[in-house]
Amino acid sequence: MKRLAILGSTGSIGRQTIEIISHYPDRFQVLALTAGRNVHRLAEQARQLKPELVVVENADSAKELRGMISNSIEVMVGDEGLIAAATHPQAELVVVAVVGARGILPTLAAIDADKDIGLANKESLVAAGELVMAKAKERQVRILPIDSEHSAVFQCLQGQDPDHLAKIILTASGGPFRTYTNEQLEVVTPKEALRHPNWDMGAKITIDSATLMNKGLEVIEAHWLFGLPYEQIQVLVHPQSIVHSLVELVDGSVLAQLGPPDMRLPIQFALTFPERWPAPWPRLSLADVGSLTFAEPNKELFPCLSLAYAAGKEGGTMPAVLNAANEEAVEAFLQERIAFLDIPRVIGEVLETHQNKERPTIDDTLAADRWARRQAQHIMKQHPLKG
Ligand code: MG
Repeated sequence: MKRLAILGSTGSIGRQTIEIISHYPDRFQVLALTAGRNVHRLAEQARQLKPELVVVENADSAKELRGMISNSIEVMVGDEGLIAAATHPQAELVVVAVVGARGILPTLAAIDADKDIGLANKESLVAAGELVMAKAKERQVRILPIDSEHSAVFQCLQGQDPDHLAKIILTASGGPFRTYTNEQLEVVTPKEALRHPNWDMGAKITIDSATLMNKGLEVIEAHWLFGLPYEQIQVLVHPQSIVHSLVELVDGSVLAQLGPPDMRLPIQFALTFPERWPAPWPRLSLADVGSLTFAEPNKELFPCLSLAYAAGKEGGTMPAVLNAANEEAVEAFLQERIAFLDIPRVIGEVLETHQNKERPTIDDTLAADRWARRQAQHIMKQHPLKG
């Protein structure tokens, strides 16, 4: 029996995690669930899984939830609740599927409490990769990636001597605008950007896929997870999303992990690692796929990728700033306050004006995150970018 806490249980990854767990009711016990404001979904999950603790964003949601679930379940609120869930005394594995910088502190707290981490929260590694990896090493806990690309690399590396890794090749679908021109990109709407060709994901990450920032953040994640310099991490556009990523070994051999575009596989591998369990989902038929194609990403049309490489290479607080500025810009785009191509412009300006701090503490990182959000809002207010 594996004991779990699931942070962000009502989001896309959280729901799929619970779907997998329901296939194996005797092998998992869920002790804690956390969500934002989706009280109805959380109540449903709590009735199904009977956790000891559930957490919601605010007091109003907590009051609503209280009336919908058994009195024996403890209800907590906000960041304090998130930390309590992340450090639940009996949990062995904490699935961090919270979206955004809010995932950083619970991830660090869970590692401190000697929990293995199933990590779907990109920001923990992007903004605080140095701290997270150092702490994981110190506490000897596993960081199991729940992202199709990093899971692919992780799977390819099983049984390999880490010193034999020469290069990581992350694949990118290219998003819905892969074949667009600059003129077309100027006028795309949030609705168009939210229509991803292969993957069904949350709104923020879908926009990030359309700008290629998602891949940029994944490059930074890969740098920390697998310890390779940025020069040895490459991105290839692969529109079919069948090859989830590749590794090149020192002798030139290239290993890839393939599968249908379905997050349940990387989620299940993180839940069952180091075992592999049978799964009911559709199998890959390469004959049906027919052909797999690969191309260099267009860095002029999608500047977010280069911004991420630059911030990653600079290190310090730059990746935290990149991430926070991106979150603000994406939110503004979704609210139609800025245009699609303003997203990289805003991030670029915020990065340019940031005073980088090397070897940041967690407080430095969180301060840089707050600064970047204010700066992004300031830039978006100063010169109305839209139009
Ligand atoms: Mg991914």
